[in-house]
Amino acid sequence: MATLEPVGALALPEVPQLGEPIHKPLSDLEVKLEANRCLYCYDAPCMRACPTHIDVASFIGKIATGNLKGSARVILEANPLGASCARVCPTEELCEGACVYKKDDTPIRIGDLQRYAVDYVRNNGIDLFTPGRPSGRRVAVVGGGPAGLSAARDLRLFGHAVTIFEAREQLNGLNTYGIVPFRLDYDVALWEAQQVVNLGVEVRAKTQIGVDVSFETLSQDFDAVIVACGMGNVPKLGIPGENLSGVWDALDFIQRAKLGKSLGNLGNHVAVIGAGNTAIDALTCAKRLGAERVTMYYRRGEDQMTAYEFEYEFAKQEGIEFRFFCAPVKIVGEGHVSAVEFVRTEIPKSAGKQSPIQVAGSEFVEMVETVIRAIGQTRLRDVFSAAGIETVDGVVKVDEQLRTTREGVWAAGDCIFAKGMREAMVVEAAEQGKIVARSVDAFLGAAH
Ligand SMILES: Cc1cc2nc3c(=O)[nH]c(=O)nc-3n(C[C@H](O)[C@H](O)[C@H](O)COP(=O)(O)OP(=O)(O)OC[C@H]3O[C@@H](n4cnc5c(N)ncnc54)[C@H](O)[C@@H]3O)c2cc1C
Ligand code: SF4
Repeated sequence: MATLEPVGALALPEVPQLGEPIHKPLSDLEVKLEANRCLYCYDAPCMRACPTHIDVASFIGKIATGNLKGSARVILEANPLGASCARVCPTEELCEGACVYKKDDTPIRIGDLQRYAVDYVRNNGIDLFTPGRPSGRRVAVVGGGPAGLSAARDLRLFGHAVTIFEAREQLNGLNTYGIVPFRLDYDVALWEAQQVVNLGVEVRAKTQIGVDVSFETLSQDFDAVIVACGMGNVPKLGIPGENLSGVWDALDFIQRAKLGKSLGNLGNHVAVIGAGNTAIDALTCAKRLGAERVTMYYRRGEDQMTAYEFEYEFAKQEGIEFRFFCAPVKIVGEGHVSAVEFVRTEIPKSAGKQSPIQVAGSEFVEMVETVIRAIGQTRLRDVFSAAGIETVDGVVKVDEQLRTTREGVWAAGDCIFAKGMREAMVVEAAEQGKIVARSVDAFLGAAH
């Protein structure tokens, strides 16, 4: 298998912004007022609610006294993904949800203040970190998304040599390719990745482990390997007509939209199947690309949607339509989609969490020209089996130190996400990257 040459600085592609960003940055005056509202609570609940445990009171205090560089350092020390997290964290459920002002419904705007401080160092080209004394040890990171970048950043601070193997052209995973640009800009995602590269991380871009370089090569050439490859594409619906043109995987759809690549004619009516955060991004993206009607179809009810509440509210504001308790059974068309046949569903009334069942004879047809599947993500089972690490239902098995079942191999991020155990979020991936880095450092400790 060939090994590609490492890349240097990351190229910034020209990409469309798909309309106004959802969140505008705070003005200087708003920042002053907001920062001075903070009560600097003892044992601050916001800090405990943040998965990366940023010392929120400390960074807000530094903003209030004009020490923006110091503030950004507090944030980025605890969270190497602090720039993207400031924009995409579900703050209502995390730091802001725990703010003592929440009972009056006016929590401190922690995410926006974090963005202000980190944007200060971003806009002024300020470098905050330097690599540690060389340890002589080498670590390979498979996947340059949030989890891989976070691990790589801290491993460099510990002095280890790090090489990231990334299948795509650019770093920062779904921050760069998945989250819609009106929630997270390319330049923010790439700046964040560049901060890690600047610490002397070697990057092998366009190098897929298992295809271009084998996992065994990594385990022979490196002292430790971290698997941080995320999840795969959206699974098929498993119904007739899925191969027609006009049927999209939501991740491909959003990625093409982000990169400004052609998606053909979306037509007047776009159907998105699924009700999670990816579905919301696909829905709002299709709307901003000019589709007249965009409808979400979900086989359960409104209260069982997995999208965050604020995402759902945003989709409503963007003019998205919603149809609950219905499932697609057939996609119809000659060459291209022209309609989808649905059937109504219901949840059986008996106790316990039940799967929806189809109601016989309740079929109906919707005229649509584009169908987007957004029903979750598959697991990268081939990568894990090539790595010789155990999985449970496709999720990599790890202990509390995020060690896999194979000695010398760790895992972090979405590849260890399992419902009811962890969340698939950028801030979780950032924290797991830190945990892995500490665990690997302890393992390599003898070399210090
Ligand atoms: C549409 C969408 C919207 C989202 N919105 C939010 C949000 O608002 N807030 C939030 O907190 N989270 C959001 N998330 C979730 C968040 O993006 C993920 O939890 C996070 O990116 C996980 O980071 P990761 O590093 O584990 O995986 P990824 O970001 O998926 O990165 C994995 C990297 O590994 C690379 N890779 C895969 N296989 C290989 C291989 N064999 N060899 C080399 N490289 C490989 C991939 O190319 C990728 O760059 C969203 C996700 C999606 C899909
Ligand atoms: S990283 Fe996210 S959860 Fe943590 S303080 Fe910042 S915005 Fe809140």
